[in-house]
Amino acid sequence: MATTRKVVIIGSGPAGYTAAIYAARANLAPLMFTGVQSGGQLMLTTHVENFPGFVDGVLGPDLMETMRKQAERFGTDMIAEDVTGVDFSRRPFVVRAESGTYEADTVVIAVGYSGYFIPEKQQAKHVTITPNCAYPTRTITMTFGQRLEISNQSKFPFAPMIESEVSPAVMMAAPLEMGDPIRLYPRRPGHSAMGDIMQPYVRQDLYVLRYPLHAVSDLNGHYRIDGVPVGKLAIRALHPTVSSEAQAPVDIATNVVAKVDLTLEYAPKAPKVDDTKRTNNIFR
Ligand SMILES: Cc1cc2nc3c(=O)[nH]c(=O)nc-3n(C[C@H](O)[C@H](O)[C@H](O)COP(=O)(O)OP(=O)(O)OC[C@H]3O[C@@H](n4cnc5c(N)ncnc54)[C@H](O)[C@@H]3O)c2cc1C
Repeated sequence: MATTRKVVIIGSGPAGYTAAIYAARANLAPLMFTGVQSGGQLMLTTHVENFPGFVDGVLGPDLMETMRKQAERFGTDMIAEDVTGVDFSRRPFVVRAESGTYEADTVVIAVGYSGYFIPEKQQAKHVTITPNCAYPTRTITMTFGQRLEISNQSKFPFAPMIESEVSPAVMMAAPLEMGDPIRLYPRRPGHSAMGDIMQPYVRQDLYVLRYPLHAVSDLNGHYRIDGVPVGKLAIRALHPTVSSEAQAPVDIATNVVAKVDLTLEYAPKAPKVDDTKRTNNIFR
């Protein structure tokens, strides 16, 4: 076992590098386990618009590279491995990794969160059933973690529900917007059908997206999607009403706008006519 370190930092996202910069500047000679995903989650994104000090935004990988250099400049040692276990039951603490076992007076755990983006409460998705008993669009998109709020301006009662999810109660969107909107909480990301217990003719497609990446620029057949992780992706277009679908692979690189052309085909089939049953009653 090597000599005991004053500080061992686990994780190399923004939190890990911040801890490393502060610890190194305090002459604590930190040892950082960067983990196999060196640089953390921001290595997966393109533009970061909300990091203080970057008026025009900064590319996620560039920002993390800068943080790494700053941590190294003050003397952070780095090991590009995952930690496999920490024993906090004895002092100094014992940190285990593939390359060996390390002792530390202090362990900073900054391993991030790999769950879902949870938007704030006020970012609920609002949909209003119009006075003529229709949804404004056939397709509803939202981000996982958001709730779906539905109000009803029509004269008739609606009871919307997500078909794949058993609801503990029937929730009624009262007519003429009487009362609060109903709230639905999709339990998983993906595509679901929405139906209505009171109005069985109503059908919606609900797309619950895992990440808030659906910044659509316009509705004239040209869409710009921002905030896509770098790497190989598939872009898919689907028109659910006519079941038309197209897909193409795309390589996302930092600071490059990738263009993808997709065409949705729709060829309505002529209805089958059975000649043996054809009659013309008008002339009989
Ligand atoms: C696509 C995408 C876009 C985003 N865009 C923005 C944005 O524009 N603005 C914004 O503010 N936030 C954005 N975020 C969120 C932001 O990336 C996170 O809030 C931030 O990275 C969290 O930092 P962190 O240091 O806590 O953890 P992370 O960045 O998750 O880093 C965790 C680190 O821990 C390491 N690790 C995990 N387990 C171990 C182990 N056992 N041993 C050693 N190391 C380990 C990993 O390798 C990684 O280096 C985005 C996230 C994603 C996925």
